[in-house]
Amino acid sequence: MDRTTTIVDLSMPVADLPFDPGVVKIEPWTHADGPRRIGRKAAFSRHVPLATRLGRAIGYLTGRRRIDERSFPDGLFLGNEFLTLSVHAGTHVDAPFHYGPTCEGKAAKKIHEIPLDWCVGPGVLIGLTDKKPGESITVEDLTAELDRIGHELQPGEIVLLHTGSDHLWPTPAYFGGHPGMTVPALDFLLDHGIRVIGTDTAGFDLPAPVMIERYYRTGDRTHLWPCHLFGRTREYLQIERMGHFDRLPAPTGFTVCCLPINVRGAGAGWARPVALVPAEIDTAAIDNGATSSEVVRG
Ligand SMILES: [Zn+2]
Repeated sequence: MDRTTTIVDLSMPVADLPFDPGVVKIEPWTHADGPRRIGRKAAFSRHVPLATRLGRAIGYLTGRRRIDERSFPDGLFLGNEFLTLSVHAGTHVDAPFHYGPTCEGKAAKKIHEIPLDWCVGPGVLIGLTDKKPGESITVEDLTAELDRIGHELQPGEIVLLHTGSDHLWPTPAYFGGHPGMTVPALDFLLDHGIRVIGTDTAGFDLPAPVMIERYYRTGDRTHLWPCHLFGRTREYLQIERMGHFDRLPAPTGFTVCCLPINVRGAGAGWARPVALVPAEIDTAAIDNGATSSEVVRG
């Protein structure tokens, strides 16, 4: 990486939070556990002839262990972590297959089928920090902000919706207290050739309790995950649970890279999105609430 480009981390952690509906369980295998685990594994290895295997297994079971803590410096082997989690935990990219089995009349793309060139493009930061929890993001909100920053959307740009709700992480309010996109606002972005939209909220639509409450009250099923379900009609990717948009020094002029992990057959994949900010970006003209001193130097 050349010294004139700054990398801004736009991701939030994958972490074990008891109230996170994404459910993350992290089981560490510690360095101290390691000699015992690898010793047992080696003793029962299938990669040696049967007679050797039997000899090693009997030796292990009778206490003659060839690999134990004396086999490693300070008695410590390699650490490891085993995870049980949803592909929607932490920062992740939703593919059309998450929204439904078909999209635009064809089989919906799974995350391993996403063209990677969709996931790298010029970023456009839309300021929405005055939106309150449970409020809807409308076409008017988007056009007012685009007017303010003097930007016309171009096909292939990656739009980032900056609500500031990542500051609620890691509290329960993070999951229930954010504004949400509306179908007309989503449709507006897609009409302008946008295929990838990132948000710093836990979900792209309104919080689940808000949608469910409205559905219970009215019986109108269009309250339930309307933007996600609109993804059956028009193809797009959404990046949920991004963060640190306040570290971007300007609303445009940077490149977003948001490559999802290649989880075969899944409707989403975890990602570590970053913004590549060139040194020549003019930060003086725009008051964007930026805290550029926090920016990580590349
Ligand atoms: Zn998701």
